Amino acid sequence: MAKRILITGAAGFLGSHLCDRFIKEGFEVIGMDNLITGDLRNIEHLIKLKNFEFHHHDITKFVHVAGKLDYILHFASPASPIDYLKIPIQTLKVGSIGTLHCLGLAKEKNARILIASTSEVYGDPLVHPQNEEYYGNVNAIGPRGVYDEAKRFQESITMAYHRFHGLETRIARIFNTYGPRMRLNDGRVIPAFIGQALRGEDLTVFGDGSQTRSFCYVDDQVEGIYRLLLSDFSDPVNIGNPNEISILDFAKEIINLTGTDQKIIFKELPQDDPLQRQPDISRARDILNWEPQVSREKGMKITYEYFRSLSAEELQKREHKDFSEHIRR
Ligand code: UDP
Repeated sequence: MAKRILITGAAGFLGSHLCDRFIKEGFEVIGMDNLITGDLRNIEHLIKLKNFEFHHHDITKFVHVAGKLDYILHFASPASPIDYLKIPIQTLKVGSIGTLHCLGLAKEKNARILIASTSEVYGDPLVHPQNEEYYGNVNAIGPRGVYDEAKRFQESITMAYHRFHGLETRIARIFNTYGPRMRLNDGRVIPAFIGQALRGEDLTVFGDGSQTRSFCYVDDQVEGIYRLLLSDFSDPVNIGNPNEISILDFAKEIINLTGTDQKIIFKELPQDDPLQRQPDISRARDILNWEPQVSREKGMKITYEYFRSLSAEELQKREHKDFSEHIRR
């Protein structure tokens, strides 16, 4: 009998790629999303499949799923700094109340649950690269605090369910990940720079661009998450690509990649923007026998082609199609 998995945030960037992967592995997949930041187009190709169901539901409300569940992946959350500013309370609620509901459901169904945590639990890190032992440097009351603290609470309650109820739990600390289906207008650096290049605008580097990030291609991320779910390891595991680059050098890479002659302009650095970020993935290497395979050059080419394939109209704005007949409410 096929294994059954619930994926929250299924219409989002990572959630939709995870749906694809678990469908490919022969699972029955239930995708759930309230569509505040997700886009049904990301799972359009799955909606007609027999072994895929979509539930339009907000996980911060009580959740019920009929039948057995073997696994839950909790990936519902806004995930970009401009979303935290626009929908801070939903961000806090999905990481806290939403996680509580997912854990309760996992307990009820005796299912194993993996939660999407983040490199943001390390805040603006004073340890470099960041390993899982580091407690982080987070400003709870800053603009990013709503995401960071929700995710830290999420880790905490997940460990409590593991220790107190013996629930099988997994925690992935996800570092910057990119690829097709990122939201063009979500404000994050990769869609922002590519969108600007495609529209013939200047690239906006925040601060002096000396801050660093380490970008992981989505297929590598999904492979890491897949292996972690099937492992027996319940402490947090960093999943990311250690290949670090400054944002200024990255802007130059994008100009090369797109073959445009865009200029770089400098804008104010947002508050609490981490100065450096690089995962130490020794734990993932040891426990999951995993490390990224896709170079930034290759991953960025695929991602650029994806954004280029969007129509001119979509480049300005991506609108939701009507999928209502396929949706369970
Ligand atoms: N950034 C930038 N220009 C943009 C968007 C982002 O210079 O148009 C910078 C941002 O200040 C940060 C880095 O790129 O230092 C990565 O930002 P992103 O929002 O992608 O994710 P973060 O890692 O900060 O959560």
